[in-house]
Amino acid sequence: MQQARLSLPLNDWQNELQHPINEVRYLIDRLKLPTTISADTTQQRFGLRVPNSYVARMRLGDMTDPLLRQVLPLLEEQQVIENFSTDPLNERLAEKTPQLLCKYQGRVLLMTTNQCAIHCRYCFRRHYPWTKIGDLLNNQIIFDKIQADHSIHEVILSGGDPLTLTDHDLAELVQRLAQIRHLKRLRIHSRMPIVLPQRINETLLASLTATRLPIVMIIHANHAQEIDETVGIALNQLIQAGIIVLNQSVLLRGINDNVITLINLSETLFSYRVLPYYLHLLDRVHGAAHFEVAMETVVNLLEQLRCQLPGYLVPQFVREIAGTPYKQPL
Ligand SMILES: *Cc1c(COP(=O)(O)O)cnc(C)c1O
Ligand code: SF4
Repeated sequence: MQQARLSLPLNDWQNELQHPINEVRYLIDRLKLPTTISADTTQQRFGLRVPNSYVARMRLGDMTDPLLRQVLPLLEEQQVIENFSTDPLNERLAEKTPQLLCKYQGRVLLMTTNQCAIHCRYCFRRHYPWTKIGDLLNNQIIFDKIQADHSIHEVILSGGDPLTLTDHDLAELVQRLAQIRHLKRLRIHSRMPIVLPQRINETLLASLTATRLPIVMIIHANHAQEIDETVGIALNQLIQAGIIVLNQSVLLRGINDNVITLINLSETLFSYRVLPYYLHLLDRVHGAAHFEVAMETVVNLLEQLRCQLPGYLVPQFVREIAGTPYKQPL
């Protein structure tokens, strides 16, 4: 018994991160789904990737499960649809230097890593040329660029998912950013508290509380079913540590494009003291056309949420239009 315990990996979250479910047939089998499902087993780049603990929150035998739909590659992804491209936001034009995007005043977005715990089928960065991502901490140019531009008040750690970095690397990154005097705050965009909540551990919380920079974390949940007790514990720990936690979602056909689901999401988030921030309209990325919601439905949903929820539980419905100075509200 003693021996078995000794051989356990030091970090459970890293073990789970490195051993995702990535075989479509295995997933179909495990969830007891009909074999007639139109899944795509041939995806090479950006294939199936989902943590075990997230799959455990899916319903058995239900092809319409809202968590399953977010991760299962479907044959529909191969359709070529007009106005859907591989870089819908023209991000490659906003690069100050590789990995550092500056689109909006006062804020820069730092692509810390190409790794995510999960591959979301609707992701607008699914075609990004990730091979360019270098070792951030050894890339002094990035820190020099931020240091040299006094108009930057906020760095947004993004990716990929910044919380896939090790505790050690994150601590060093936060420290080096805190040394840049004109930075006023640090933002972290992460889906890890939702998809792999064990990631929120004591070491991480310690490095996020030790810094002079106030931290805001924008998590990413699309459906209340994603938020189970383990997620609740992680959210609670973040908030106890003084971190402001907000949620962003993407409006997805067949997943959360109805009033009840969106109300449930806001209510569930708030029960853990998390406020909704943005509800993004889908970016027109190749492979995601089947998730797009008709504008008429979008307008109706917003109207209904405004009728039925307090203002602070209605997320801002936004879409990103390349070249505009902020995300465009509806
Ligand atoms: C969304 C985004 C931001 C942050 O925008 P906010 O409206 O402040 O949330 C910053 N930089 C880039 C490149 C973005 O895509
Ligand atoms: S976690 Fe975020 S960056 Fe990663 S695939 Fe999902 S939406 Fe894209």
